[in-house]
Amino acid sequence: MYSLHTLLLSTTLNQFDTAEDATVKDDLKTLGWLPGSQISHAIKLNRTAEFLIGRPKLADKISTRALLTLSFHAHQDECILSKPISAFVSPMKVADPKVLKVSIEDNGEPCIDLLSLNNPRIKHMQELDQRFKPSHNQSGFVRKSVHDALLKMLSHLPENIGIAIYEGLRPLTTQRKYFQKKLKEIRKSEPDETKARAKTSALVSPPDITPVHCTGAAIDLTLFSMREHFLLDLGKFGVIFGPNDHASTFSDEVSTIQKVNRVLLLRAALLSNLVNYGREWWHYSLKDRVWAIAKGEKRASYGIPSLDEKKPRRQ
Ligand SMILES: [Zn+2]
Repeated sequence: MYSLHTLLLSTTLNQFDTAEDATVKDDLKTLGWLPGSQISHAIKLNRTAEFLIGRPKLADKISTRALLTLSFHAHQDECILSKPISAFVSPMKVADPKVLKVSIEDNGEPCIDLLSLNNPRIKHMQELDQRFKPSHNQSGFVRKSVHDALLKMLSHLPENIGIAIYEGLRPLTTQRKYFQKKLKEIRKSEPDETKARAKTSALVSPPDITPVHCTGAAIDLTLFSMREHFLLDLGKFGVIFGPNDHASTFSDEVSTIQKVNRVLLLRAALLSNLVNYGREWWHYSLKDRVWAIAKGEKRASYGIPSLDEKKPRRQ
């Protein structure tokens, strides 16, 4: 797989000089990216980006991270290009001591049920695939700013693409169940209790650290086709139970179409001020502790809201 660096700093076509890369070579010629050509690096970058994004065959040659950067160049998203990628895709673990050090001051923002908006471009994943049944009745709730960010995301996505959500707000009781179930699973391969807890904590927040999903600041989501009414393929969804080689946002294990679809989701979300948790391609958050670190903010804005766990959202 070519890195962005290799691809963009190449001033000749020599590295594509094999029979199987003949089409790549032709395509780069089409771009005017010829050996010794006098066009500037910036123009090469823009032309290459515009060209690659629409061509899965070529996208296969580069990583998701490189494809994402190229997408920002193609759209001239200067607000993102001026910052490191860690300001948008967080490498931090949710239970990292640095993350836990960030103080939380709840700003009192209300929670809004995304599923009661009746927006045809926001659906629960279960409506598109029965396997994604929600595990409680508050999964559509998020803080107002997250709701606003999702509406903004829609403006950065093609009109025929919608957002399929799985879970926003998560009751603490559900969080406890998830953590215990995951810990049990991990103990099978990790008998050391401290290590098992640490491994579990990287994937599911321990209930006692103000888990981000319990604050309404996070949402697990993917994309769907409005016309064909199916979930787009971004790789395997979900990490809580069972292994998932596709979970990492920049996983090398994903197919070309999965990379291209991830870039579509990432760009729309990052332009809407959300931060992606780099260990889970589907998890985005706003104004929580991971977001605060990524954005260089001093504190997070949401604690645990007081919603009645027993009250059904809707039937
Ligand atoms: Zn999540």
